[in-house]
Amino acid sequence: MNQDSVQYKLVTFYKYVDIDDTLLLQSELLNYCGSYGLKGKIYVASEGINASVSGSAEAVDNFKNYIRSIIFFRDVIFKEDTTGFVAYSKLFVRIKNELVNLGVPGLTPKNGGKRLKPKDLVGFYSEGRDFIIVDTRNNYESRIGHFKNALLPEITNFREWPEVVKNLEQYKDKTVITYCTGGIRCEKASAYMVEQGFRDVYQLDGGIVTFLKECPDTVWEGGMFVFDERRVVEANTREDLRYTAKCIHCGTPTAYHINCHNLDCDKIIVCCHECKVKYDYSCSDECKKAPNRRPKRYG
Ligand SMILES: [Zn+2]
Ligand SMILES: [Zn+2]
Repeated sequence: MNQDSVQYKLVTFYKYVDIDDTLLLQSELLNYCGSYGLKGKIYVASEGINASVSGSAEAVDNFKNYIRSIIFFRDVIFKEDTTGFVAYSKLFVRIKNELVNLGVPGLTPKNGGKRLKPKDLVGFYSEGRDFIIVDTRNNYESRIGHFKNALLPEITNFREWPEVVKNLEQYKDKTVITYCTGGIRCEKASAYMVEQGFRDVYQLDGGIVTFLKECPDTVWEGGMFVFDERRVVEANTREDLRYTAKCIHCGTPTAYHINCHNLDCDKIIVCCHECKVKYDYSCSDECKKAPNRRPKRYG
Protein backbone atom coordinates (compact mmCIF):
# COMPACT_ATOMS: atom_id res chain seq x y z
CA MET A 1 0.00 0.00 0.00
CA ASN A 2 1.17 3.50 -0.80
CA GLN A 3 2.13 5.16 2.50
CA ASP A 4 0.60 8.48 1.50
CA SER A 5 -2.80 6.95 1.03
CA VAL A 6 -2.93 5.45 4.51
CA GLN A 7 -5.75 7.02 6.46
CA TYR A 8 -6.14 6.82 10.19
CA LYS A 9 -9.19 7.42 12.24
CA LEU A 10 -9.99 8.17 15.82
CA VAL A 11 -13.37 7.17 17.16
CA THR A 12 -14.76 8.06 20.57
CA PHE A 13 -17.98 6.97 22.20
CA TYR A 14 -19.53 6.34 25.57
CA LYS A 15 -22.69 4.83 26.85
CA TYR A 16 -24.19 4.55 30.29
CA VAL A 17 -25.70 1.06 30.41
CA ASP A 18 -25.65 -1.74 32.98
CA ILE A 19 -22.82 -4.15 32.24
CA ASP A 20 -22.96 -7.23 34.41
CA ASP A 21 -19.74 -8.94 33.35
CA THR A 22 -17.11 -6.22 33.08
CA LEU A 23 -14.24 -8.72 33.10
CA LEU A 24 -15.61 -10.59 30.12
CA LEU A 25 -16.16 -7.37 28.16
CA GLN A 26 -12.65 -6.23 29.06
CA SER A 27 -11.06 -9.42 27.74
CA GLU A 28 -13.14 -9.38 24.55
CA LEU A 29 -12.20 -5.76 23.83
CA LEU A 30 -8.54 -6.46 24.51
CA ASN A 31 -8.62 -9.43 22.16
CA TYR A 32 -10.42 -7.60 19.42
CA CYS A 33 -8.34 -4.43 19.52
CA GLY A 34 -5.12 -6.40 19.91
CA SER A 35 -5.82 -8.48 16.80
CA TYR A 36 -6.47 -5.46 14.59
CA GLY A 37 -3.73 -3.16 15.82
CA LEU A 38 -6.11 -0.68 17.41
CA LYS A 39 -4.71 1.66 20.08
CA GLY A 40 -6.40 3.83 22.62
CA LYS A 41 -8.05 4.02 26.01
CA ILE A 42 -11.16 2.10 26.92
CA TYR A 43 -12.82 2.24 30.32
CA VAL A 44 -15.39 -0.32 31.34
CA ALA A 45 -17.54 -0.03 34.47
CA SER A 46 -20.69 -1.70 35.67
CA GLU A 47 -22.40 1.57 34.67
CA GLY A 48 -21.13 1.58 31.06
CA ILE A 49 -18.28 2.17 28.65
CA ASN A 50 -16.10 5.12 27.62
CA ALA A 51 -13.73 4.63 24.72
CA SER A 52 -11.32 6.48 22.48
CA VAL A 53 -9.76 4.22 19.85
CA SER A 54 -7.48 4.86 16.90
CA GLY A 55 -6.10 2.85 14.01
CA SER A 56 -6.31 2.48 10.23
CA ALA A 57 -9.57 3.75 8.78
CA GLU A 58 -10.56 0.22 7.85
CA ALA A 59 -9.81 -1.22 11.30
CA VAL A 60 -11.76 1.59 12.98
CA ASP A 61 -14.76 1.07 10.69
CA ASN A 62 -14.76 -2.63 11.46
CA PHE A 63 -14.42 -1.87 15.16
CA LYS A 64 -17.54 0.29 15.02
CA ASN A 65 -19.49 -2.58 13.45
CA TYR A 66 -18.16 -4.91 16.10
CA ILE A 67 -19.26 -2.55 18.88
CA ARG A 68 -22.72 -2.14 17.35
CA SER A 69 -23.01 -5.94 17.18
CA ILE A 70 -22.89 -6.05 20.99
CA ILE A 71 -26.53 -5.84 21.90
CA PHE A 72 -26.33 -3.16 24.61
CA PHE A 73 -24.14 -0.92 22.42
CA ARG A 74 -26.27 -1.12 19.27
CA ASP A 75 -27.41 2.51 19.52
CA VAL A 76 -24.07 3.96 20.55
CA ILE A 77 -23.27 7.35 19.00
CA PHE A 78 -19.78 7.47 17.50
CA LYS A 79 -17.75 10.63 17.17
CA GLU A 80 -15.10 10.27 14.56
CA ASP A 81 -12.13 12.11 13.11
CA THR A 82 -9.60 11.42 10.41
CA THR A 83 -6.05 11.87 11.63
CA GLY A 84 -2.69 11.87 9.91
CA PHE A 85 -1.30 9.37 12.40
CA VAL A 86 -2.45 6.84 14.96
CA ALA A 87 -3.58 9.10 17.79
CA TYR A 88 -2.48 6.74 20.58
CA SER A 89 0.73 4.81 21.05
CA LYS A 90 -0.71 2.17 23.37
CA LEU A 91 -3.86 0.25 24.05
CA PHE A 92 -5.41 -0.24 27.43
CA VAL A 93 -8.79 -1.47 28.58
CA ARG A 94 -9.37 -0.71 32.24
CA ILE A 95 -12.12 -1.51 34.66
CA LYS A 96 -13.28 1.40 36.79
CA ASN A 97 -15.84 1.85 39.52
CA GLU A 98 -17.31 4.90 37.83
CA LEU A 99 -16.85 5.95 34.18
CA VAL A 100 -16.05 9.44 35.37
CA ASN A 101 -15.15 9.77 39.01
CA LEU A 102 -17.59 12.09 40.66
CA GLY A 103 -17.83 10.16 43.90
CA VAL A 104 -21.54 10.76 44.40
CA PRO A 105 -23.25 7.38 44.65
CA GLY A 106 -26.71 6.80 43.24
CA LEU A 107 -26.64 9.54 40.60
CA THR A 108 -28.22 8.32 37.42
CA PRO A 109 -27.56 10.02 34.11
CA LYS A 110 -31.21 9.31 33.27
CA ASN A 111 -32.05 12.25 35.52
CA GLY A 112 -29.57 14.56 33.82
CA GLY A 113 -30.21 17.97 32.32
CA LYS A 114 -32.25 18.47 29.17
CA ARG A 115 -30.23 17.92 26.01
CA LEU A 116 -29.38 21.08 24.14
CA LYS A 117 -28.36 20.80 20.48
CA PRO A 118 -25.39 22.88 19.30
CA LYS A 119 -27.46 25.11 17.03
CA ASP A 120 -29.91 25.73 19.86
CA LEU A 121 -27.04 26.83 22.08
CA VAL A 122 -26.02 29.32 19.39
CA GLY A 123 -29.67 30.41 19.41
CA PHE A 124 -29.56 31.01 23.17
CA TYR A 125 -26.69 33.44 22.58
CA SER A 126 -28.09 35.17 19.51
CA GLU A 127 -31.51 35.61 21.08
CA GLY A 128 -29.88 37.15 24.13
CA ARG A 129 -31.50 34.62 26.48
CA ASP A 130 -30.74 34.89 30.17
CA PHE A 131 -28.61 31.88 31.06
CA ILE A 132 -25.47 30.70 32.83
CA ILE A 133 -23.09 28.36 31.04
CA VAL A 134 -20.63 26.35 33.14
CA ASP A 135 -17.55 24.43 32.07
CA THR A 136 -17.40 21.08 33.87
CA ARG A 137 -13.86 20.27 32.71
CA ASN A 138 -10.53 20.78 34.43
CA ASN A 139 -8.84 24.17 34.44
CA TYR A 140 -6.07 23.11 32.06
CA GLU A 141 -8.76 22.17 29.54
CA SER A 142 -10.91 25.29 29.84
CA ARG A 143 -7.82 27.52 29.52
CA ILE A 144 -7.29 26.28 25.95
CA GLY A 145 -10.81 27.16 24.90
CA HIS A 146 -14.33 27.65 26.23
CA PHE A 147 -17.74 29.06 25.41
CA LYS A 148 -18.22 32.79 25.36
CA ASN A 149 -18.86 34.19 28.87
CA ALA A 150 -18.75 30.69 30.39
CA LEU A 151 -18.10 30.24 34.08
CA LEU A 152 -14.75 28.47 34.38
CA PRO A 153 -14.46 26.96 37.85
CA GLU A 154 -10.87 26.19 38.77
CA ILE A 155 -11.46 22.43 38.75
CA THR A 156 -8.44 20.14 39.00
CA ASN A 157 -10.47 16.96 39.42
CA PHE A 158 -14.08 16.18 38.51
CA ARG A 159 -14.70 15.12 42.11
CA GLU A 160 -14.66 18.83 43.00
CA TRP A 161 -17.93 19.32 41.08
CA PRO A 162 -20.22 19.16 44.16
CA GLU A 163 -18.12 21.94 45.68
CA VAL A 164 -18.45 23.99 42.50
CA VAL A 165 -22.22 23.50 42.51
CA LYS A 166 -22.40 24.73 46.09
CA ASN A 167 -20.95 28.02 44.85
CA LEU A 168 -23.56 28.27 42.11
CA GLU A 169 -26.53 28.27 44.52
CA GLN A 170 -27.55 31.78 43.45
CA TYR A 171 -28.38 30.43 39.96
CA LYS A 172 -30.82 27.77 41.16
CA ASP A 173 -33.80 29.44 39.50
CA LYS A 174 -31.94 30.43 36.35
CA THR A 175 -31.33 28.53 33.14
CA VAL A 176 -28.01 26.71 33.55
CA ILE A 177 -26.14 24.91 30.77
CA THR A 178 -23.27 22.52 31.41
CA TYR A 179 -20.75 21.34 28.83
CA CYS A 180 -17.74 19.05 28.54
CA THR A 181 -15.66 17.48 25.77
CA GLY A 182 -17.87 14.63 24.59
CA GLY A 183 -20.83 14.77 26.97
CA ILE A 184 -19.95 12.01 29.40
CA ARG A 185 -19.06 14.26 32.34
CA CYS A 186 -22.16 16.41 31.86
CA GLU A 187 -24.47 13.42 32.15
CA LYS A 188 -23.47 13.26 35.80
CA ALA A 189 -22.63 16.91 36.38
CA SER A 190 -26.07 18.00 35.20
CA ALA A 191 -27.82 15.15 37.04
CA TYR A 192 -26.12 16.34 40.20
CA MET A 193 -27.41 19.89 39.66
CA VAL A 194 -30.94 18.63 39.09
CA GLU A 195 -30.67 16.60 42.27
CA GLN A 196 -29.51 19.69 44.13
CA GLY A 197 -32.67 21.53 43.13
CA PHE A 198 -31.56 23.53 40.09
CA ARG A 199 -34.75 24.14 38.14
CA ASP A 200 -33.76 24.57 34.51
CA VAL A 201 -30.66 22.55 33.67
CA TYR A 202 -29.42 21.75 30.17
CA GLN A 203 -26.43 19.74 29.03
CA LEU A 204 -24.76 20.33 25.67
CA ASP A 205 -25.69 17.30 23.59
CA GLY A 206 -22.66 15.57 22.09
CA GLY A 207 -20.28 17.92 23.91
CA ILE A 208 -17.79 20.35 22.41
CA VAL A 209 -16.69 17.73 19.88
CA THR A 210 -20.09 17.81 18.19
CA PHE A 211 -20.50 21.55 18.67
CA LEU A 212 -17.28 22.36 16.82
CA LYS A 213 -18.25 20.14 13.90
CA GLU A 214 -21.67 21.74 13.55
CA CYS A 215 -21.15 25.33 14.62
CA PRO A 216 -17.53 26.49 14.27
CA ASP A 217 -16.80 30.22 14.28
CA THR A 218 -19.79 31.05 16.44
CA VAL A 219 -19.72 31.11 20.26
CA TRP A 220 -16.75 28.85 21.03
CA GLU A 221 -13.49 30.68 21.70
CA GLY A 222 -10.13 28.96 21.35
CA GLY A 223 -9.23 25.31 20.78
CA MET A 224 -10.51 22.09 22.27
CA PHE A 225 -8.19 20.24 24.63
CA VAL A 226 -8.07 16.52 23.84
CA PHE A 227 -6.38 13.70 25.73
CA ASP A 228 -4.94 11.98 22.65
CA GLU A 229 -1.78 12.91 20.79
CA ARG A 230 -3.44 15.61 18.73
CA ARG A 231 -3.46 17.54 22.04
CA VAL A 232 -5.73 20.23 20.68
CA VAL A 233 -8.44 20.45 18.02
CA GLU A 234 -8.79 23.86 16.41
CA ALA A 235 -12.03 24.29 14.50
CA ASN A 236 -12.45 28.04 14.39
CA THR A 237 -11.05 29.95 11.42
CA ARG A 238 -12.11 33.42 12.54
CA GLU A 239 -8.91 34.98 13.85
CA ASP A 240 -10.67 36.62 16.85
CA LEU A 241 -12.02 33.21 17.95
CA ARG A 242 -8.90 31.14 17.52
CA TYR A 243 -7.11 31.51 20.85
CA THR A 244 -8.00 32.08 24.45
CA ALA A 245 -4.69 30.89 25.81
CA LYS A 246 -1.25 32.46 25.76
CA CYS A 247 2.23 30.92 25.85
CA ILE A 248 3.42 31.04 29.46
CA HIS A 249 6.88 32.11 28.32
CA CYS A 250 6.32 34.78 25.67
CA GLY A 251 2.58 35.51 25.76
CA THR A 252 1.93 34.62 22.12
CA PRO A 253 -1.68 33.44 21.66
CA THR A 254 -1.67 29.68 21.03
CA ALA A 255 -3.79 26.63 21.78
CA TYR A 256 -0.75 24.40 21.95
CA HIS A 257 0.10 22.78 25.26
CA ILE A 258 2.56 20.23 26.63
CA ASN A 259 3.40 18.52 29.86
CA CYS A 260 6.54 20.01 31.40
CA HIS A 261 9.24 17.43 30.70
CA ASN A 262 10.59 17.61 34.21
CA LEU A 263 8.85 14.47 35.43
CA ASP A 264 8.79 15.81 38.98
CA CYS A 265 6.75 18.78 37.69
CA ASP A 266 4.74 17.30 34.78
CA LYS A 267 2.46 20.35 34.79
CA ILE A 268 0.32 20.94 31.69
CA ILE A 269 1.47 24.27 30.27
CA VAL A 270 0.41 26.40 27.34
CA CYS A 271 3.58 26.90 25.32
CA CYS A 272 4.21 28.03 21.74
CA HIS A 273 6.36 25.89 19.46
CA GLU A 274 9.30 28.29 19.58
CA CYS A 275 9.39 28.43 23.37
CA LYS A 276 9.00 24.67 23.50
CA VAL A 277 12.37 24.37 21.78
CA LYS A 278 13.93 27.31 23.62
CA TYR A 279 12.91 26.02 27.05
CA ASP A 280 13.42 22.37 26.08
CA TYR A 281 9.82 21.36 26.86
CA SER A 282 9.93 22.94 30.31
CA CYS A 283 7.79 25.38 32.27
CA SER A 284 10.77 27.24 33.75
CA ASP A 285 14.56 27.49 33.70
CA GLU A 286 14.56 25.43 36.87
CA CYS A 287 12.62 22.60 35.27
CA LYS A 288 14.82 22.84 32.19
CA LYS A 289 17.81 21.88 34.34
CA ALA A 290 16.02 19.19 36.35
CA PRO A 291 17.57 15.70 36.04
CA ASN A 292 14.44 13.54 35.85
CA ARG A 293 13.31 14.11 32.25
CA ARG A 294 10.53 12.67 30.18
CA PRO A 295 11.83 10.99 27.01
CA LYS A 296 10.98 13.05 23.91
CA ARG A 297 8.47 11.82 21.38
CA TYR A 298 5.75 13.14 19.12
CA GLY A 299 4.12 16.31 20.42
ZN1 LIG B 1 6.28 31.32 23.53
ZN1 LIG C 1 7.99 22.35 35.19
